[in-house]
Amino acid sequence: MGSPASSSAASGGSISSILSLGNRDFLISPSGSKVSVEELEGKTIGLYFGANWYAKCEKFTPLLTEVYQKLKEQGTEFEVVFVSCDEDQSSFEQFHGTMPWVAIPFGDLQSRKILNQRYDIEGIPSLVILSPNGQLLQTNGVELIRRYGSQAFPFTPSSIRELIAEEKANHDSQTLEKLLATNGRDYVIDHGKQVPISNLVGKTIGLFFSALSYPPCAKFTSRLASIYRNLREKHDQFEIVFVSVDKDESSYSQCFSEMPWIALPYNVESTKLLSRYFDVQGIPTLIIIGPDGKTLTKEGRNLINLHLEMAYPFTEERLKLLREKMDEEAKNYPSSLNHAGHRHALNLVSENSGGGPFICCECEEQGLGWAYQCLGCGYEIHRKCVREVEGKGTSENSLPASDISFAKSSSGL
Ligand SMILES: [Zn+2]
Ligand SMILES: [Zn+2]
Repeated sequence: MGSPASSSAASGGSISSILSLGNRDFLISPSGSKVSVEELEGKTIGLYFGANWYAKCEKFTPLLTEVYQKLKEQGTEFEVVFVSCDEDQSSFEQFHGTMPWVAIPFGDLQSRKILNQRYDIEGIPSLVILSPNGQLLQTNGVELIRRYGSQAFPFTPSSIRELIAEEKANHDSQTLEKLLATNGRDYVIDHGKQVPISNLVGKTIGLFFSALSYPPCAKFTSRLASIYRNLREKHDQFEIVFVSVDKDESSYSQCFSEMPWIALPYNVESTKLLSRYFDVQGIPTLIIIGPDGKTLTKEGRNLINLHLEMAYPFTEERLKLLREKMDEEAKNYPSSLNHAGHRHALNLVSENSGGGPFICCECEEQGLGWAYQCLGCGYEIHRKCVREVEGKGTSENSLPASDISFAKSSSGL
């Protein structure tokens, strides 16, 4: 959500006037019955823009539901209104049926369009938060729910500032014990035996969020395992701790049995806490904690993919050195080339020139730094994954008329 919403959105209007149009003064419950718009007056409202066909919405809906139900139990005056971006009535009904809150009737295309425009909706899922008097409070409700859960309520700028300050204080006072010891447990697991957390203090620790039966995890785990073994031969001050995102304990056990490092015991709650604390947005994720117990980087996976063992010890100085070395080498890279796996010419990009973190379309691993990209297709690959072909016709190299932002976002996690 880049641009600020229009001034009419910021200045508000009553909740009823925002949610009704013409003669329609009702919303629809998940079972299809009418709910008077007036029932929402005086409440903080989340306008949820989403669609059934989009995986990111499917993933966010249960999270919002959990928060919504928790806020209901706490007796807060919070309501959600679904504004469907679905393609047809049956998709709408199917998706709305999974939600516990009301929706703008799917047939009222005009209202849905007005709300999309009024709040400058550029992508879904999107959650716009309105104050009880209809003023725009937040446009990044999805992010706030993901980061703070039900604590994000009442979503006022001052309450969010407090949460951010609290979070910063937590990170500033972070220690390895605070991270790894939940509910007084003072050990981690090393394939059948307990290792006191105090044994890990002072080491460089990789917190590895992963799960069984997810191909990107399996792929990265085997790569990480070989790097881990190499590093451990030289540096006994390095350790990796598996944080299981598995659905059940037997998947966890199977997943862990294939790993050469240690693990937190299986515990859904502590994984949830750690994921939220580090804002883990997908797996596999590797977070590196320095010898002082503070976070060195959350980009461990990228850095391993990019530099292999060379990334160790992941300090700022080390990474700066590696970046400089890469930039120096990049002077010899062609600025554009033809790659056997893509029908358009690819351009050289770096983090500072149109690139950024990406998922390589060749090897499907995360990437960062110098890469080759077709902006029009949202196609991007590691430099090492290029299979160069000589001189293709230029007629094929024109940009396709695809939606760039969508192509880019759908290739992400
Ligand atoms: Zn690649
Ligand atoms: Zn292309």
